Amino acid sequence: MCMKRINLTSVAAGAWLLLLSCGQAGTGTEATNATVAPAAADSAQPVALPTPRREKVLTAEEQQALTPDQVIASLKEGNERFVRNDLTARDHSTMVRKAVLGQYPKAVVLSCLDSRIPVEDVFDKGIGDMFVARVAGNFVNEDILGSMEFGCKVSGAKLILVLAHESCGAVKAAIDNVKLGNITAMLTKIAPAVKLSAGFAGEKSSKNDAFVEQVAKANVTNTIETIRAKSPILKEMETKGEIRIIGAYYNLQTGEVIFL
Ligand SMILES: [Zn+2]
Repeated sequence: MCMKRINLTSVAAGAWLLLLSCGQAGTGTEATNATVAPAAADSAQPVALPTPRREKVLTAEEQQALTPDQVIASLKEGNERFVRNDLTARDHSTMVRKAVLGQYPKAVVLSCLDSRIPVEDVFDKGIGDMFVARVAGNFVNEDILGSMEFGCKVSGAKLILVLAHESCGAVKAAIDNVKLGNITAMLTKIAPAVKLSAGFAGEKSSKNDAFVEQVAKANVTNTIETIRAKSPILKEMETKGEIRIIGAYYNLQTGEVIFL
């Protein structure tokens, strides 16, 4: 919540606050953040207002009414708000209480473990909006596939988004063929993307950012193909148009998500 130095003695400001809390909070609409602060009637100082808050969690009816393309548009619009530092304010304590009744998320996002990617924030989403699976290198295995099937077939999500990112340490380790504990076995899941990038024209090393990006994007392609090959349930849902399975690439420097 973005409440900054509100002059509560101002009748005008108080009335405006009341209007906001009654008229806009809890509508569940997105991209409604107010950025204009009116001046108080009795002061030359502008009064900063709290941004309208989202208190509503998705319902079963709202989830069912969404199309996969609408979910993609929602994620793109959310990322645009993230990039311009205009995240929707959320009343988390209210949303926690409302979400206890059930969950009807619109998407499953498979992200890397990387701590620099706060997935819900990246898409300006909150409690109950998305399933988020995370593993270093954003690949799938039996457990992640089962989680995706739960998210889509059982819980009604309309989109699977495989989210890679710039300067991925797991991808670099796969390129370097690192051997260390359980990391060794984990990297075998990313190794196919290194092979797929064998035709790269240039230095094929983890020090070459362009090659690392090439492998990260090949890993997205390979992951999506693996989802289709190893999950008949998700492939059938995609064929019927019930879900879409797509990839994206997160730019660490700007926060922008490029949909592939
Ligand atoms: Zn990573």
